Amino acid sequence: MLSERMKNIMSLPTPCYVIDEKALVDNLKILRYVEKQTDCNVLLAQKAFSAYHVYPLISEYISGTTSSGIFEAQLAYEEMGNKQIHVYSPAYKDEDFDRLLEICDHIVFNSFSQWKHFRSKALKHSEVEFGLRINPEYSEIETDIYNPCFKNSRLGITIGNFEENELEGISGLHFHTMCEQGSDTLERTLKVVEEKFGKYFYKLKWLNFGGGHHITRPDYDVEKLIQCINYIKNKYDLEVYIEPGEAVALNAGYLVTSVLDIINNNMDIAIVDTSAACHMPDVLEMPYRPLIIDSDEPDVLPFTYRLGAPTCLAGDVIGDYSFEKPLNIGDKLIFTDMSIYSMVKNNTFNGMPLPSIYLLKSNGNTELLKQFGYKDFKRRL
Ligand SMILES: *Cc1c(COP(=O)(O)O)cnc(C)c1O
Repeated sequence: MLSERMKNIMSLPTPCYVIDEKALVDNLKILRYVEKQTDCNVLLAQKAFSAYHVYPLISEYISGTTSSGIFEAQLAYEEMGNKQIHVYSPAYKDEDFDRLLEICDHIVFNSFSQWKHFRSKALKHSEVEFGLRINPEYSEIETDIYNPCFKNSRLGITIGNFEENELEGISGLHFHTMCEQGSDTLERTLKVVEEKFGKYFYKLKWLNFGGGHHITRPDYDVEKLIQCINYIKNKYDLEVYIEPGEAVALNAGYLVTSVLDIINNNMDIAIVDTSAACHMPDVLEMPYRPLIIDSDEPDVLPFTYRLGAPTCLAGDVIGDYSFEKPLNIGDKLIFTDMSIYSMVKNNTFNGMPLPSIYLLKSNGNTELLKQFGYKDFKRRL
């Protein structure tokens, strides 16, 4: 049964994303606890979640943001208030770099050649700290597209390419080798990072553990994360940064859709007003099957349907689900965990409208944050 809060979102026009403020705050409290127990800095990786309307709320709990480039850095600068702004990019452009120096506290380079290219300019800014991304050549990610340590990866400097004589002006190292993983993976990764790069730590100010920490998942071992951070801090006298994306808004959002038609081709098929390709691209990219409230795996409950999008892409199928009652045209369905890697990745392929964005406030009221229309589709082409 839906709670009163959730009933409120069933009356919204579809398709829409709904950010769940209460769930977001629950996550932020866990992240703040990690900061408090370790004196580390937790940064929102904006690539996962950039709904800047809630940045002021996020800024009450954690130290700042990290960015993948000039646009995310600028967004943080405009919307996150007086908080830390970090940036890492596989390569910076000359025309962006001056602005990055103005608005960022930390700039992380992907290679020694980028560092040398920007070094003279960089070192004129003593208020900015500079770091290098390393590739420890150790990760536990099975899917290559999400594995920064796969063969011939462009992300980070391997120990074989590490130029230890070029570290003057560098105050920290950064690694990012995890994806939706536990603190046990972090513990094993740190061991390798330490073995390979530990000898440089004594001269540095900080170490950034990257993202991919699934800190707010119920079975995540937060105490082990705290131990890992404190171990590095104490042994090397380093400040520690972590930059989770997913964990900030994990399970803190929904995508609400309506059933447009029901057809049959050897099974019942419901066409809904949302698209995997356009509104939840990770469903096809990962791939994975998102959950729907009050549904189950196919053939568990009496009525099973395949859910498909109103696009022309044959594979734009969200998944197969079973329900207690038959679906009817006009019924609404709620996909869960739709705040992360959804709004930031959506697109208007096939002329699909973009879902509006609502906030489900802690008091149960809903607020429209953004609405899109035909002009948003046209303007991008
Ligand atoms: C993607 C990314 C993150 C965030 O990763 P999550 O899996 O969303 O926690 C953090 N840092 C860097 C460098 C990234 O590329």
